[in-house]
Amino acid sequence: MTDWSQRLKRKQDVKDRANVPNHMYGYCRVIHCGRPARAGTSDGLDERYCRAHADHNQRHGSPLKGSYTARELNPYRRAALAWIVAHEDNRWVQNAVQRVQGLYQQAGPYIEAFRLRGLPPQDRAKAALARLRQHGTDPRLVVAAWLAVELVILDDPQPVTSTEYKRVQAAKVVHRMASGSHRRWVREVPSPVWPGQKQAQVQELHVYPRSRGRVLRHLGEALESAVELLVDHHLTDVHAFKREQGATGASGARPYPRGWVSRPRSKDDEEK
Ligand SMILES: [Zn+2]
Repeated sequence: MTDWSQRLKRKQDVKDRANVPNHMYGYCRVIHCGRPARAGTSDGLDERYCRAHADHNQRHGSPLKGSYTARELNPYRRAALAWIVAHEDNRWVQNAVQRVQGLYQQAGPYIEAFRLRGLPPQDRAKAALARLRQHGTDPRLVVAAWLAVELVILDDPQPVTSTEYKRVQAAKVVHRMASGSHRRWVREVPSPVWPGQKQAQVQELHVYPRSRGRVLRHLGEALESAVELLVDHHLTDVHAFKREQGATGASGARPYPRGWVSRPRSKDDEEK
């Protein structure tokens, strides 16, 4: 309980600070913005930007550049996956896959999406990885997601090259793989009428865990650490492979070839 009251107190402190106009913080760092930097987003203080730019930064990992769309990313995800499958014996591919499996194993217990509220960002990032594990998401899809973000940034004529942007973009893709629960199941609950007896109860779940803020930073950092050696050794090869593939024209409509899904065990496999 002390942990809880400490959190409450910290929350109050943050609120108090956010409510006091602090002239020390000056102006938003976005050039020509001109608005005062406002500490006071819901996900902690951001002293660098005005409210609008801080909010944008939380969602996308950059105060100005938006997120890549699925249509932009899909050809890269497919190319990265195809390259991974073609190089499964490569030690750095194996290394990355094992590290993603390591993240799954260290992610702690599976937490239903509706229990995530109030958990600190780091725990919610772990919960996202636990959801992937629970759904049996192939680690190669996670590796491919990171590589896809690296590749799309390489090909972007006006890229944002910050670590934060890369992490957030990859984390958004991976977060989406395991999120958006629309599930219905039956479970046994104690009977309200007959003590000691059980009865079946239909449960439904329609929850999208929030995909923004520090959760994405933590998740992105974990993903980066899993794939970084593969990136160091082979990103240029994957990039060359994508360029060759691009000539033959891979469709951007799907993130994976037919037969691949990110959530093999559930009914709502289709990704948008
Ligand atoms: Zn601004």
